[in-house]
Amino acid sequence: MSNLEYIQRDLAVVWHPCTQMKDHETLPMIPIRRGEGIFLEDFEGKRYLDAISSWWVNLFGHANPRINAALRAQLDSLEHVMLAGFTHAPVIELSERLVKLAPHGLTRCFYADNGASAIEIALKMSFHYWRNCEQPKKTKFLTLENSYHGETLGALAVGNVALFKDTYAPLLMETLTAPSPAGTDRASGESLEAYAYRKFQALEIMLAAHADELAAVIVEPLVQGAAGMRMYPPIYLQWLRAACDKYQVHLIADEIAVGFGRTGTMFACEQAGIRPDLLCLSKGLTGGYLPLSVVMSTEQIYQAFYADYQKLSGFLHSHSYTGNALACRAALATLDIFESDNVIENNQVLSTAMRTSTAHLQDHPHVLEVRQQGMILAIELTKNKATRELYPWQERRGLRMYQYALQHGALLRPMGGVLYFMPPYVITPEQIQQLADIATGAIDAATQD
Ligand SMILES: *Cc1c(COP(=O)(O)O)cnc(C)c1O
Repeated sequence: MSNLEYIQRDLAVVWHPCTQMKDHETLPMIPIRRGEGIFLEDFEGKRYLDAISSWWVNLFGHANPRINAALRAQLDSLEHVMLAGFTHAPVIELSERLVKLAPHGLTRCFYADNGASAIEIALKMSFHYWRNCEQPKKTKFLTLENSYHGETLGALAVGNVALFKDTYAPLLMETLTAPSPAGTDRASGESLEAYAYRKFQALEIMLAAHADELAAVIVEPLVQGAAGMRMYPPIYLQWLRAACDKYQVHLIADEIAVGFGRTGTMFACEQAGIRPDLLCLSKGLTGGYLPLSVVMSTEQIYQAFYADYQKLSGFLHSHSYTGNALACRAALATLDIFESDNVIENNQVLSTAMRTSTAHLQDHPHVLEVRQQGMILAIELTKNKATRELYPWQERRGLRMYQYALQHGALLRPMGGVLYFMPPYVITPEQIQQLADIATGAIDAATQD
């Protein structure tokens, strides 16, 4: 069957995520027949370099032989068993290894099967902790401008991207929103750190005023992904950690996108030397193979739920596929690769290649900024470099870059006027150079008029 036949069958029955389906009247979707390493291949043999890790999940390439082998072996012994009252080797081993890897003091692992569910769990755990500790007034959450935490109602409520959130506003709980340290109103001459501190001070005033009703502050450490890969310096997290301690508010770190090496360290929080009270992980956790997420908590939080059943203080949350054995096995195979291949260190060569291959774009008349944090590099367009004006969203410049890149064999999926690379770690420096060439062409094509 050809691409076209699959497209026609698809459009008759499938409703796609994050898509205005009418776009497909003019924008062909791409049926994928197979994946191999960094490449995806359609039904006519055309190959696409997957520069965004298939929505930020893939770490070691498609159809990775080592993860495949681990999954095949797991399939022959156990695919799944409910995790209430039962357990299995992969979930135990994975939890042991995550506790060793994560910031010291996160001793407990609670599983779900996607990022948004992990956020819901973290919110409920924090709220419920304060209730169990006889501080039932602490029910609110403080979030940052431009943050993203997923699409379910609780996660959407603590997120702050208008495109996803505004429509559903009447359904969402109220949250407090502090200015972001990765905002866009930095004064000329103001350092990144001075800017972040100014934004932190605004947050601290809110914390001080609302501490008695706040359960937690939730942040994406170092990179606000869905807002357009907006970045801020690690020291902000140190200030935030200290303030959360001072005002007795939990710190929830959403490392769903930035965990597992994306920012150059295994976890972004490491760069600030801090430990959140709750850490949410997903996406790269299984190497991009299977849906799995985990919320890691401190022993203190865990112990606040631990009591005789009659006290009814347990955390009675569940999902049918909690701790799925195949997903845990894929995660273990992924962690094996990190260990045996010295991935975090070797990635430095790749992040340097990303920087040098795109350095010339700083001078492009329609590039506002090229920013990077480890293995994430973003290029933001501007209509007018002098005034820093952005292109109106209605012009869909990002879509033009997307289409140009596909024609030239790369999967790049800009967010508005922000083009970014977030590739699997099996990419080579040569492929990074090809990608930078395609990105340059895409930017030229999208900013011609
Ligand atoms: C993707 C993402 C989520 C949501 O994860 P899903 O698996 O898509 O529900 C939450 N937080 C961040 C920072 C993300 O990037």
